[in-house]
Amino acid sequence: MRGANLGRGHLLVISALTAGLLAATGTPAGAATAPAPRFSPGAPGAGDPYFPDMGNGGYDVGHYDIRLAFSPGTGAIDATTTIFATATQDLSRFDLDFQGPLTISKLSVNGRNAAFTRSGAQELVITPPYGLRKGSPFVVSVSYAGVPQKIDDPALGVSGWVATKDGAVALNQPIGAATYYPVNDTTADKATYTQTITVPAGLTVLANGEPGPTTTHDHQTTFRWSMNRPMASELSMLAIGNYDVTRGVAVGGLPNITAIGRSIDTQPGQGKVFNETTAQIVQWESSMYGQYPFDSTGGILADVGVGYALETQSRPVYDQDTSDVDGDLLAHELGHQWFGDSLTPVRWSDIWLNEGFATYSEWLYQEKFNNVPVQETFAKAYADEKDWSGKVADPGRDHIFDDLVYNRGAMALQALRTKIGDRAFFDVLKQWPTANRYGTVSTRQFIQFVERLTGRNLASFFQTWLYQPGKPQLTR
Ligand SMILES: [Zn+2]
Repeated sequence: MRGANLGRGHLLVISALTAGLLAATGTPAGAATAPAPRFSPGAPGAGDPYFPDMGNGGYDVGHYDIRLAFSPGTGAIDATTTIFATATQDLSRFDLDFQGPLTISKLSVNGRNAAFTRSGAQELVITPPYGLRKGSPFVVSVSYAGVPQKIDDPALGVSGWVATKDGAVALNQPIGAATYYPVNDTTADKATYTQTITVPAGLTVLANGEPGPTTTHDHQTTFRWSMNRPMASELSMLAIGNYDVTRGVAVGGLPNITAIGRSIDTQPGQGKVFNETTAQIVQWESSMYGQYPFDSTGGILADVGVGYALETQSRPVYDQDTSDVDGDLLAHELGHQWFGDSLTPVRWSDIWLNEGFATYSEWLYQEKFNNVPVQETFAKAYADEKDWSGKVADPGRDHIFDDLVYNRGAMALQALRTKIGDRAFFDVLKQWPTANRYGTVSTRQFIQFVERLTGRNLASFFQTWLYQPGKPQLTR
């Protein structure tokens, strides 16, 4: 993410599967050798101290199939989300995250109606008709409808489903996904996605990944988008409205789909410029960070009114209210495709691993395209920074989007470069995302990675720059 103020973020299959799953997951009768399973509830959170209710325990999602019809007149959706998961314990009960006023009309597990309750702000508590054995796959299907409501968090801003003048845009970092689909809302549980979205003919739908066929019936058009690489829910995205779409290619023939909202006042030819600049930056970043991790790229310039841009997977969204939608900002959000999207911190306290590297991408962009040396940008940031009170690698729940994380994160990287030298540093920039492609990471893992790669003990360096409040001394 980068904000305006940031100093410059089968239904058909179910019936076929059900019979087999019932046999596999039902309580075994008279099993003489295996101990009887002890079914217990999955945890209602994934263990992140900043967001204790986010995510859940006891299962792992493999795929989300979101089918949603949107009515711009009322702002309502009518949806069925089908979740393909595997139990990671003997489960008597489990939670999904789902929040806001949407009403659930039907919920099934492996094709059989399941009991459910909604508890607290975001827990959807599901009790299947029988226990789910550890290791067994299961399918949850939830049908629901209503007008989704965005989240407006006093510290973290607006996220989730945001109604716009001509449709809606969904931006889900950190806690928005559950405003329009039931989800295991934790970066620890990445999954693939299919989003099949029906809107009145004439509107356009964009989402993560690659487009499928578009069909129109009775003045309703259905768009289908697939993300076939693991994606954290906070990086899922939808944009519905009037858009001019530009299709091009980036490095290695990568499909490059960009779009600009028609209501946005732009110069003639901006669609082509936006598309080509995206391609140019993806190519340049690939040369530094290693192979681009997804099967398509692009970007969406939209009138959302949230005041930030977000690194939604494979296709960032740039709100037109963001300070400047320019090369720096594209370099930031596209840099996140490696740092944040492909590799993702498992805890939100480690978000500097996203934002420090994305901000550093801006600094590199300034050097490459505007002749401003990175060291000069660093020196200015170091001189201008007034607040050295927080911890970069543990900023606190309400500070995950603060300058602390962005600028001091990037400063820590430039200080590391000075310490270990250009050659080792650029090795880190390429090897770290390559080694952790599609995975989850922590600051501890990063420190170990750099120490192994350089053969140096950097404990006190990282202690000073990441964990200790106060202005670090500059030493070589
Ligand atoms: Zn960012």
